[in-house]
Amino acid sequence: MTAQLIDGNAISQTLRADVAQRAAALKAKGITPGLAVVLVGDNQASQVYVRNKVKSCQDNGLHSVLEKYDATMTEADLLARVEALNQDPSIHGILVQLPLPAHIDAQKVIEAISPAKDVDGFHIASAGALMTGMPGFWPCTPYGCMKMLQSIGYKLRGKHAVVIGRSNIVGKPMAMMLLQESATVTICHSATANLKDLTLQADVVVAAVGKRHVLTADMIKPGAVVIDVGMNRNDEGKLCGDVDFEGVKEVAGYITPVPGGVGPMTITMLLVNTLEAAERAAA
Ligand code: NAP
Repeated sequence: MTAQLIDGNAISQTLRADVAQRAAALKAKGITPGLAVVLVGDNQASQVYVRNKVKSCQDNGLHSVLEKYDATMTEADLLARVEALNQDPSIHGILVQLPLPAHIDAQKVIEAISPAKDVDGFHIASAGALMTGMPGFWPCTPYGCMKMLQSIGYKLRGKHAVVIGRSNIVGKPMAMMLLQESATVTICHSATANLKDLTLQADVVVAAVGKRHVLTADMIKPGAVVIDVGMNRNDEGKLCGDVDFEGVKEVAGYITPVPGGVGPMTITMLLVNTLEAAERAAA
């Protein structure tokens, strides 16, 4: 079997067109959805990420400001900037790019963001809302994975989904979202003893580990849906996921590529969340 590809770029295009249309509708009412991206320090990867986020906003009718600060910025100064952005009516979403320099308590900064502007979905109030099925912002990466499943019309009810990874930003919220759609969910992590036994039972596998070849063809049930969140480099320095794509695509029913899979969806869902924040503020 050769799996069908779930194309994150194509799905993103459709979702971004919808964002642009809804942004234009808000603009007609005098409101431009605005995202503030805050970068502290000079982490190379973070610089690329924030540039992409700001550009994606601008390309889709959202207003975006990038605030860059020196790595020596104090925690108190950063908290004060976050508070100023909380009060700024032209800003509907606030994203503080992680990681932050070691002398700043990242969790404290995240908790300082108003939950109404928490478009990354990392605030404890957002996590609680997801856990209890209340309205709130969902973390962009797992939210993007859900949109990918939706794009193939996949019905999760009664299916067995295995999530590999339990981080607060990917694995745990992913499991909650799958549960909300009535899948039976298993969460695996570094201490899971029988990973292969579990993945072989799975109708859907989401790999969010950060290690190449965590998931190989012999670990997949024929026809399963495989979502690869991982972002790693192979021996040639090329971007690759957690899944042995070449092997797994011969067994799976659907598979997401890396690059061109979950990556573009993450930024797209940030745009969606920012737009929703602006729509809620305008309501
Ligand atoms: P993380 O915080 O490092 O979490 C990794 C998880 O994988 C942990 O829960 C860890 O278990 C588990 N793990 C490690 N080795 C394992 C093994 N051999 N078998 C099973 N589980 C194992 O990473 P993250 O932030 O969730 O990110 C995961 C990956 O997704 C990374 O490659 C990251 O770059 C990528 N990512 C991509 C996007 C995107 O937009 N495409 C967005 C976010 C993250 P323990 O908890 O027991 O340590």
